[in-house]
Amino acid sequence: MNRVSQTSFAVTPAEALVGINDRAAMLSQPGFGKYLTDHMVTIRYSADKGWHDAALTARHDLSLNPATMVLHYAGEIFEGLKAYRHPDGGAALFRPDANARRFNASAKRLAMAELPEDMFVDAVAELAILDREWIPSEGEGSLYLRPFMIGTEVAIGNHPSDSFLFSVIASPVGSYFKGGVAGVSVWVSDNYTRAAPGGTGAAKCGGNYAAALAAQADAARQGCEQVVFLDAVERRWIEELAGMNVFFVFDDGSLQTPPLTGTILPGITRDSLIRLARDKGMTVREEPYAIDQWRDDLASGRLVEVFACGTAAVVAPISQIKGNGFDLTIGDGGLGPVTADLRKTLTDIQFGRAEGPEGWVHRLF
Ligand SMILES: *Cc1c(COP(=O)(O)O)cnc(C)c1O
Repeated sequence: MNRVSQTSFAVTPAEALVGINDRAAMLSQPGFGKYLTDHMVTIRYSADKGWHDAALTARHDLSLNPATMVLHYAGEIFEGLKAYRHPDGGAALFRPDANARRFNASAKRLAMAELPEDMFVDAVAELAILDREWIPSEGEGSLYLRPFMIGTEVAIGNHPSDSFLFSVIASPVGSYFKGGVAGVSVWVSDNYTRAAPGGTGAAKCGGNYAAALAAQADAARQGCEQVVFLDAVERRWIEELAGMNVFFVFDDGSLQTPPLTGTILPGITRDSLIRLARDKGMTVREEPYAIDQWRDDLASGRLVEVFACGTAAVVAPISQIKGNGFDLTIGDGGLGPVTADLRKTLTDIQFGRAEGPEGWVHRLF
C-alpha cells in the first residue's frame, strides 16, 4: 500500500549518506532537533511560474542575497508534524492535511503565496519515505518534519514578497523535555504578551517565537521551564505557552481550554484531544479562564490537573505555576490520571496501536 505522490519531484539522492553506525548512535540519543536527516525538499514560487522546481535532494545550505526579504521583515511561516513508526514496521503521519490547511492560513495572514494542500502533504510524505531509516522504532521516538516557507524577493522595500521558497527538513526526536513526561513548571509573564487582537497569534510564524524569547528568558531566570501568556487587553485571561496550548482538568472530570479567538494558535493536538475527550463522554469547555480563577481553583481543590499540549511535547503535565507574588504546586506535581489517559489515547493512535477517528492516520508505507 505505497502512497502515490501527485507532485513530481526531481529526486537527486545524497551521494554520501550518514553511516549506519553514526545514524544508529544519533537515533539512540536523538534529543530534540539536534540531528537532521540526509535529504530535504525545496519548491519555488514566483508570480509568473507559480509553484515550480519541486526537488528532493541531499540536504544543503541555502544561499541568500543579503537583501532577501525574509532576512529583514521576517516573512517566515512553518509547521511541525511527525512520522511515527507502527508495530508492523510501517510508518504514518498524523493529520497532515490539518497542517497543510493551517500552513495556508498562516500564509494568508502574512501575505505569502498559498501552497496546494496535496503538494504540502506530498512534500512531507516523500521526504519521510526517502529518509525512512531515520524514523526511530524505539519508545516514543519519531521523525519530526519541519515544513517552512520564506519570502525570497530581493528588495529592501517593504511589500509582500513576489517569490517564495518552500522547504521541508526532518529530524529524529526523542522526548521534547529532558526529564521525559515529568511535570513542567511555568512562569506567568507580567511583562510581555504573545499576541494581540488583530495580530499574528493564530499564525504559525517565526516572528511570534522571536517575540516570546525575552519572556522565555524571564521564565528561566525564575527557575521555570516555560512561560504562560495572558491576553494582551485585560492581562487576565490565560492564552497559551510560547509553543503549546493548555488544558485545565477539574474535580468533576470536566476539561476546559481557552477558546480560539484569533490570539491563540489553533493546535492540532488541542483539536484532537477535544475530540478524543468528547468521544470518551467527557465535558470539554472552550471558554476563557482567568489567572485569578486558576489560583482560587487550586486553593479550593476544584482544579486537579493542568497540561500543555503540542506536536513536539505531545501532552505534558504542568506541575507548578509561578508568578509575581505566588508559587503554587498543581496536584502532587506529577502526571495526573486524566492527563495520562488522554496522552495514552492520543499516542496509541499516532503509533498505530489503536484505531483513531476516520482519516487521522496517513500511512506512508
Ligand atoms: C505549533 C504551536 C502549538 C501546537 O500546535 P500543534 O498543532 O498541536 O503542534 C501551540 N501553540 C503555538 C504557539 C504553536 O506554535
